[in-house]
Amino acid sequence: MSAAVPPAVDPAVAEEMAREAAAWCALHGLVVGDRADPRSATVPGVGLVHAPFALLPAHLPEPFWRQACELAPIFNELVDRVSLDGKFLQDSLSKTRQVDDFTSRLLEIHRKMIEINKEENIRLGLHRSDYMLDSETSSLLQIELNTISASFSGLGPLVSELHRTLMNQHGHLLSLEPKRVPGNAASSKFAEALARAWAEFNVDSAIVLMIVQPEERNMYDQYWITKHLKESHGVTTIRKTLSQVEAEGQVLPDGSLLVDGKKVAVVYYRAGYTPNDYPSEAEWSARLLIEQSSAVKCPSISYHLVGTKKIQQELAKPNVLERFLENKEDIAKLRKCFAGLWSLDDEGIIKTAIEKPELFVLKPQREGGGNNIYGLDLQETLTRLQKEGGDALAAYILMQRIFPKASHSYLVRGGICHEGLAISELGIYGAYLRNKDKVVINDQSGYLMRTKVSSSDEGGVAAGFAVLDSLYLT
Ligand code: ADP
Ligand code: MG
Ligand code: MG
Repeated sequence: MSAAVPPAVDPAVAEEMAREAAAWCALHGLVVGDRADPRSATVPGVGLVHAPFALLPAHLPEPFWRQACELAPIFNELVDRVSLDGKFLQDSLSKTRQVDDFTSRLLEIHRKMIEINKEENIRLGLHRSDYMLDSETSSLLQIELNTISASFSGLGPLVSELHRTLMNQHGHLLSLEPKRVPGNAASSKFAEALARAWAEFNVDSAIVLMIVQPEERNMYDQYWITKHLKESHGVTTIRKTLSQVEAEGQVLPDGSLLVDGKKVAVVYYRAGYTPNDYPSEAEWSARLLIEQSSAVKCPSISYHLVGTKKIQQELAKPNVLERFLENKEDIAKLRKCFAGLWSLDDEGIIKTAIEKPELFVLKPQREGGGNNIYGLDLQETLTRLQKEGGDALAAYILMQRIFPKASHSYLVRGGICHEGLAISELGIYGAYLRNKDKVVINDQSGYLMRTKVSSSDEGGVAAGFAVLDSLYLT
């Protein structure tokens, strides 16, 4: 995303700064579990390694920053509006469900909730909208909107702090001003939104239930939220896997969700977004149990579905935003950041994509990084699926490929500093809380920059493609 050339740092100096920075990470909790230690994903405090990070922040012209921040409350509102239109969600995903089991299971829960007229009065969204700056058109374009399990709100703010610290200590070398790294309160803002949802639920003894994977190397990112919830708001969090909820959970006749004997005010999903999180029927039962309860779900099944890539593509069609939002300026702002998105019932676009695969990304309905299809694979996949006929193509959407400008960066992973050309993806967190007609929170809630070597197609940090970064306004 760098528009300006970052300051040239001598490699030997960068090496020394990287060591200092890695020590800073260890001292300040900017850490993840180390792949090399088998216990690091299950036992807290064992096998920690500094989170992968960029040594210096990615440059971003300030107008794009302001544009991205302005979009956050509009996307928050949009998610809420779309979530209320059960028919739109079911209809838009009807073809996808026939070829994608995972989406089909989610839709099944959603359909059951419609059948019992389930109402969610208190609705909490903790989202992250991701963007890249397209160098050809010089425009900020949305990659996707994450409505479930948006990660790194805990660690992101620490990267901003690390970068400011390095600038303060090496100011004479870098000639960068720390105040040009925007404040980043993502972890405290997300904790505050969870606490306000807890307060709206209004049961003093109730807790926040964080749904986690049985093995999670990114647990410290999550523990930062837990810490803020306890220390700033006095709210207790318990961590359970979906299979534990199935074994220990129940819904009382009044709708209360009890887990391990404790009443749950808010369920915060940091798992449940991938088919891998549902290895047996037990996990699906747990998801259904939670959905049927009166606990606040972050996200509800509807919010989850609004975040699917298929819905992103449907919302980008002409006249669809108008069904959900009244404000014309808001609609124009959203549309401006939409890249080209197509469903694969359009033969023309399939032909173009097969001819010029480098201009497109083929996306299945998956989250968590590492699932998209590019280049030759894209060409082959489309050709094969088209030959096979049937509805298999409905499992995917096609997206215009965005080309951010690459710039020289130092990326630090596992204590090793790599220099190379890199591109960045800006994530803006959004928090939304509403209780019936009252909007309690609708905010931009901090940011996350992720940077990866420009030769890599995919982008996930946890998936091993990118590093955590912050940004420097130019
Ligand atoms: P996921 O939900 O798995 O994170 P994304 O849609 O964010 O899926 O895609 C994963 C990564 O692929 C992104 O972080 C980005 O690096 C890259 N990517 C996705 N869409 C595009 C695109 N249209 N142009 C360029 N790169 C893209
Ligand atoms: Mg995603
Ligand atoms: Mg993504």
